Amino acid sequence: MTGRVAALFADSDFDAAVITSEVSRRYMSGFEMSDGIFVCSRDRAVLLADGRYFEAAAAAGLDCEVQLLTDARRQLPELLGQMGAGHTALETRISVREAGRLSDMLKQYGASPDERLDSVIEQMRTVKGDAEVRLITAAQRIAEAAFEHVLGFIRAGVTELELAAELEYAMRRSGAEGISFETIAISGANTSKPHGVPSGKVIEMGDLVTMDFGAVYGGYHSDMTRTVAVGRVSDEQRHVYQTVLSAGDAALSVLCAGVRCADADAAAREIIESAGYGDRFNHSTGHGVGLEIHELPNLSPRSEAVLESGNIVTVEPGIYLPARFGVRVEDMALITADGCVNLTKADRQLIIL
Ligand code: ZN
Ligand code: ZN
Repeated sequence: MTGRVAALFADSDFDAAVITSEVSRRYMSGFEMSDGIFVCSRDRAVLLADGRYFEAAAAAGLDCEVQLLTDARRQLPELLGQMGAGHTALETRISVREAGRLSDMLKQYGASPDERLDSVIEQMRTVKGDAEVRLITAAQRIAEAAFEHVLGFIRAGVTELELAAELEYAMRRSGAEGISFETIAISGANTSKPHGVPSGKVIEMGDLVTMDFGAVYGGYHSDMTRTVAVGRVSDEQRHVYQTVLSAGDAALSVLCAGVRCADADAAAREIIESAGYGDRFNHSTGHGVGLEIHELPNLSPRSEAVLESGNIVTVEPGIYLPARFGVRVEDMALITADGCVNLTKADRQLIIL
């Protein structure tokens, strides 16, 4: 029985859970597959894997039983009956259709979607274990290798799409099993859009180039942003860059277990506000990263969460001047009892290529 299963029932009113969403099933079972069911009670956990995955799952040395999934309509009621389930929690993150199907199939075991099941798993996922920290760090190293590589690739005449492709290819070559999200590689006036989409636009002398990208390794994501200058940089561009850098440094310097997420956000936001760009920083300062690219906790003014040791959060302030240019710099940090460890090793200073 895994500690994660025990934690699921530590403070809940359900006595069994049926977990079918890909991320939660993976987190609870330790095994990745595109389909399948994880069923558990306080003292038993079973992963139902179909013929495509059964052999690998059975050989993976998981902390749960592995059974061959052949007929969920027969196997699920049978398992819940053996577990003595009276109130079975289903996830609320699955589709309404799937929830309806499972609720009907498992009516006699009190199956219904229960938000507490999702929130307990999301909360558990915010605190990373050593193995998770290692995978996220490895994913970050892959992204940094790609960043180093494209520093030699970026020049006037290269298009944003070519740059995005080069970043992704370099991450793949360095061992990424996938990319964390659609790579952002934008230049010039496009950088004023925080989530601009790479286009056929050619990078020109005097452009700022913003790259926001990440690698997936062992199922875990990394996330980093760097803004570089091509050829030359104006005083205003440099001033905006330094302001963003100071804002990020300010947030990184307050990150620590016990600190409110809203206060970490405020540390960055105050620097940008006092420089006169408050209304040009229109997103949260950061977010958790793990099996998904956006997880809890959020470093946002609205967050009521308090940082805990083992959280991994991004720090990514930005300033965006519409139709002119924007700057964002993003690092990932591991929260500890007495501060944080910055997992991003790439240079934060403005690079002029
Ligand atoms: Zn990012
Ligand atoms: Zn991010």
